[in-house]
Amino acid sequence: MKLENKTSVVTGGARGIGLAIARAYLDEGASVVVADIDPAAIDEALAALEGEGHVAERLMGVRLDVCDRAQIDALVASVTECFGGIDILVNNAAVFDMAPVLEVTEASYDRQFDINVRGLFFTLQAVARSMVERGRGGAIINMASQAGRRGEALVSVYCATKAAVISLTQSCALDLIRHGIRVNAIAPGVVDTPMWEEVDALFARFENRPLGEKKRLVGEAVPYGRMGRPEDYAGPAVFLACDDSDYVVAQTLNVDGGNWMS
Ligand code: NAD
Repeated sequence: MKLENKTSVVTGGARGIGLAIARAYLDEGASVVVADIDPAAIDEALAALEGEGHVAERLMGVRLDVCDRAQIDALVASVTECFGGIDILVNNAAVFDMAPVLEVTEASYDRQFDINVRGLFFTLQAVARSMVERGRGGAIINMASQAGRRGEALVSVYCATKAAVISLTQSCALDLIRHGIRVNAIAPGVVDTPMWEEVDALFARFENRPLGEKKRLVGEAVPYGRMGRPEDYAGPAVFLACDDSDYVVAQTLNVDGGNWMS
């Protein structure tokens, strides 16, 4: 048990990669707060986790829109009251959109930056403040993307949000390490989650392809030989949260089957 007596918050934890990380943290002995904008998905996730034998005392679901600072503060307050404080934050909630540069709308731009960057930063800030006040340090893991390493013609705004996540990870890590708070990130490649169903449908529209074709092609192009699965993120997320990575600071770890090398 690498995370015994630790309390973790996973934003966007009700499905996909976030849910797999929540499950992994429970397996390692942590308490887990699934914080997500979708209440029905939270209920489904908690039911599934309890059905797998995880005890309800170590599980909590909170409806959270990471764009709303009052909701972030309320989350920190309720987790602190219930579990005594937060040791681990996984800043995982994000949305995807794409369009040719000439067709990007302000609404799409604002939504992606609001959730993927602003929401991530102010969730990190609120949780870090509570960690500093408590004086026990902590681990913060931001979910970046291979999209943050290199631009893509049809994905300009999402790529920019993820480049911002990599940059914020570095700056926040440098400022917060003096409080014993380690900030790192994970950069997934292409992962078979509900998000990729949306991505595939958008590529089908903009590249005039049959549904499912883009997903098949990107999977075949991964050096490992397949798309990522949510459970591929369990081990890396546990590693960055626990003492095994005590000297790892400000890094963005590529977990992508070999797609990106740095
Ligand atoms: P997903 O869309 O399957 O799940 C995202 C979760 O975030 C959902 O449960 C959703 O309800 C929640 N969410 C959305 N907006 C929110 C908000 N405003 N406040 C709180 N919760 C909100 O996504 P996923 O594929 O599991 O991706 C998880 C993370 O990994 C994201 O940061 C994503 O950008 C990143 N990522 C995914 C891939 C991939 O191929 N799937 C690749 C690279 C990076």
